[in-house]
Amino acid sequence: MATWKEWDMHNIWEAKHRLSTIVNKTPLIKSHKLSAYTGRNIYLKLETATDIGSFKIRGAANKILSLSQLERSRGVTTFSTGNHGLAVAYVAQKLGIKAVVCISHNVPKNKRQALENMGAEVKIVGDSQEEAGEFCENLKETYGMTIIHPFDDLYVIAGQGTIGLELLEDLPELDHVIVPLSGGGLLSGIGIGLKGASEHIRISGISIEGASAMEKSLQRGVPVDTPEKATLADSLLGSIGRENQYTLSIVSEVMDDMTLLDEEAIAKGMLHLLKEERQIAEGAAAVGVGAILSGRFSHLGQNVVLIITGNNVDPTIYETLSLTELDRIKGACL
Ligand SMILES: *Cc1c(COP(=O)(O)O)cnc(C)c1O
Repeated sequence: MATWKEWDMHNIWEAKHRLSTIVNKTPLIKSHKLSAYTGRNIYLKLETATDIGSFKIRGAANKILSLSQLERSRGVTTFSTGNHGLAVAYVAQKLGIKAVVCISHNVPKNKRQALENMGAEVKIVGDSQEEAGEFCENLKETYGMTIIHPFDDLYVIAGQGTIGLELLEDLPELDHVIVPLSGGGLLSGIGIGLKGASEHIRISGISIEGASAMEKSLQRGVPVDTPEKATLADSLLGSIGRENQYTLSIVSEVMDDMTLLDEEAIAKGMLHLLKEERQIAEGAAAVGVGAILSGRFSHLGQNVVLIITGNNVDPTIYETLSLTELDRIKGACL
């Protein structure tokens, strides 16, 4: 099996070439307000502008396009109900490949509907994500379907890494990138891409306070789980996998610093993006802005990119944010 040390810039260029038929380059825009606020050049990389509204399409496309004809004919499966599930469904549909997304009875109807609208066959099994995952294993064993892992897969990591190549093209003077961090596929890919170009580009990860499995795992040096909590940044929840093969070691090598954010700061980031930048971003995507507005960075580069990772958010959330949080955070919102 390949180790990630053999996985470098070259694999990310290969991913860029491979997925170019499915994924368009996303915009990089300058935030004049955040630039004025910090005295630095702050840019937003809008991964919300992909066909599915998140970067997960990159990893899913690179992985599925790398499968052999035989593997494609047997179909793909996953047990993610979030952006990764949507990405797998979308890419498979585009390529005419069968996709089965396994979910538990607890998954809300609207999520199931979204997956079906994207063309997936949804299989409802058991009462937990773990049981849904076991069912995926059955599909693999019985029908030879390929499980598409949301982050701990070198092809998925290389797909997410294509963001790094786009950043180097659009902003060669880039010296700091701020990345939402959960399972670590995104940060690993961007890290390999950018550190391969220059060791001096700083890479910051941001997770949720009190619910970051990656933070706990980095501390202990082995994968450990952490209890989940209700959060605006639901796409950042979840385990890194007890059998984690790649992302824990890549993240520990390429990440320069890590910040954990509370709900108030995440809300601040979402409201700033909506009101001042006119961008709809889910909580997970707004953590970089939230961290800056909450003064959480003692070191910011001169040319900083925040990865705005996705927009899979129920718009009515803004009403509750505005009502309950606005008074508290009004002063801090630019
Ligand atoms: C998946 C996801 C992340 C985190 O990506 P990892 O590769 O799991 O670290 C961040 N933001 C959004 C919107 C996501 O869907």
